[in-house]
Amino acid sequence: MANPLIYHKQGWIEVICGCMFSGKTEELIRRVRTALIAKQKVQLFNSKIDTRYGIDSIISHNQNKVAATCVKKSDEILPLVEKDTQVIAIDEINFFDMGIVSVCEKLANAGKRVIVAGLDTDYRAEPFEVTAALLAKAEYVTKNLAVCTKCGNPASFTQRTSKDKKRIVVGTTDAYQARCRRCYKKPRK
Ligand SMILES: [Zn+2]
Repeated sequence: MANPLIYHKQGWIEVICGCMFSGKTEELIRRVRTALIAKQKVQLFNSKIDTRYGIDSIISHNQNKVAATCVKKSDEILPLVEKDTQVIAIDEINFFDMGIVSVCEKLANAGKRVIVAGLDTDYRAEPFEVTAALLAKAEYVTKNLAVCTKCGNPASFTQRTSKDKKRIVVGTTDAYQARCRRCYKKPRK
């Protein structure tokens, strides 16, 4: 018997989460590339908050470049999605407002494959509400681990090495390290 999931246009949500340096964006890119090889139409979105860290474009197998659209707010996405787009990939999901959750649901309900990537917790090891909600609503969940900078064990915590107290501080290895449960030190409030 034919698989109904293949014959009917069924949408779903995939979440790729984890700490910093766990390869979330690379995994998002890998999934998009495989869709491009199958000649599917893909649209990429990224948060305007951090343009240097997230995805900005993906080169497909035939050297076509799929550029990411930078958006500030979740409600900018739906009007930009084209009718025949099959796959929507959104990077840095934790930088978006809570509205992104219903945007992803609407797209999946409309038959689109929605792939999102982002941090599951902040530098204090508290869940990002947006990612937590999407994890609960997704069909497929992948949690990536990094390697602890101190001891080399599997790492799922993001240690901020600066004294900044804001929740979102854009940075890379200059400001953050991946740490395991034993080596992570929760910053004081
Ligand atoms: Zn460690």
